[in-house]
Amino acid sequence: MKTERDRRDFIKVCSAGTLSVLTCGLSDTLTAATAEPPSAKPSYDCIVLGLGAMGSSCLYQLAKRGASVLGLEQYDIAHALGSSGGISRQTKVMPYLGGPYEPLIRRANRNWQSLEKDSGQQVFHPCGYLRLGVNQQLPKGDGKKIEVLDESTLGDRFPQFKGLPGGTNGLFDHQGGLLRSELAIASHCHVALRHGAHIRAQEPVTGWTTDADGVTVTTLRGRYRTKHLVISAGAWNAKLVPQLRGKLQVTRLSLGWLAPKVPESFSVASFPIWEHGRFYGFPVLPDFPGFKVAKHWRGDPADPDKLDRVPNAADEKLVRDYLASHLPSANGSILAFKICMYTHGGPWLDSVPGEKHISFVAACNGGGFKFSNAYGEALADLATQGRTNVPVGFMALSAAMDSPSSEWLPPR
Ligand SMILES: Cc1cc2nc3c(=O)[nH]c(=O)nc-3n(C[C@H](O)[C@H](O)[C@H](O)COP(=O)(O)OP(=O)(O)OC[C@H]3O[C@@H](n4cnc5c(N)ncnc54)[C@H](O)[C@@H]3O)c2cc1C
Repeated sequence: MKTERDRRDFIKVCSAGTLSVLTCGLSDTLTAATAEPPSAKPSYDCIVLGLGAMGSSCLYQLAKRGASVLGLEQYDIAHALGSSGGISRQTKVMPYLGGPYEPLIRRANRNWQSLEKDSGQQVFHPCGYLRLGVNQQLPKGDGKKIEVLDESTLGDRFPQFKGLPGGTNGLFDHQGGLLRSELAIASHCHVALRHGAHIRAQEPVTGWTTDADGVTVTTLRGRYRTKHLVISAGAWNAKLVPQLRGKLQVTRLSLGWLAPKVPESFSVASFPIWEHGRFYGFPVLPDFPGFKVAKHWRGDPADPDKLDRVPNAADEKLVRDYLASHLPSANGSILAFKICMYTHGGPWLDSVPGEKHISFVAACNGGGFKFSNAYGEALADLATQGRTNVPVGFMALSAAMDSPSSEWLPPR
């Protein structure tokens, strides 16, 4: 591969067939619908810049409310080059009980149900969430749907785990499960199109300017006017919002899929999403073989436009060492490896300082997907009403919780 562009094209071609499967065919419809988009309107109520997890849900919310909205995406609708690729994301309630995220996760879970109803797609698989740890206690708060599995029950229910330190028990959150990430993004965009949204894929935004009445957005293909711009560009946010430069740090992380010896013993019908220390994983889905496993850590600093997307021996060793010790029957041959990005900083959801016509969401780190449709709702509120009752006040830029130099990681 000679250039980054060649490499992106290569990845795109290689992943096109997979994407169709991952989005239950929606990506094909979306490609057809966005290949020849309708003529642009003279001005939109809102433009959403970046149609990943956050932007696609904002677009869906705005279109359902009847706003005239344009979504701009530099790559395809649902792709593997940002922070939302890789088939699945975990969601759970337990780690957030009693904290600022509890009302958000409950709202997000209701929103996932609405998306499933609107799109007819199964985005959420309710397989439960298992956390392993030594002498864990039931968390404070509404623990009705959480089961404590003592050491022997844990061994009986999930004999796949081996070599656990003495005293290891399990907390099983029945509200947890797996979200299909590409399918969720494609479903949000699909429903948005049905409600009249315009979507332009493969159209990178190169800049924006503001005046008293709104915003002009410039892309590689044209210029668009809007009353309000939502910036949800994930790892690229700092390249588009000068006010965020120096506040965000992007890092490279890897995800592996391995062939379990007995796939049925890890199927989504019988095995939960799980977390053990810094390691976490996902059961096997019927249409995508492979037991997905990864490590939640800060990751290696990266630039989203120069990211090394080729998995290496260190990426593999990271997961193999864990599996060899604790899940040997899942430690089979590699079926896939993907590279993804965390963005450290906030998390923030706010207006861009000094710009009343622009809001943004940034730095949702390793745990943002499960909340993305609550964030999308909040962003749609800010764009249309200038305020929101989604409880995201703790994500104001002034309430910064993190700094790029910190080693702090949010719960995921
Ligand atoms: C390895 C890994 C594991 C994770 N696991 C979990 C998990 O289990 N549970 C969980 O809740 N969260 C998890 N997360 C976090 C979650 O996936 C992210 O927080 C979330 O997907 C980020 O969404 P986003 O919309 O901000 O970014 P993205 O989905 O990357 O979207 C940003 C979009 O903006 C577009 N864009 C950027 N610049 C431009 C431009 N100039 N013009 C046009 N478009 C542009 C990009 O192409 C992209 O599509 C994980 C993340 C990673 C990396």
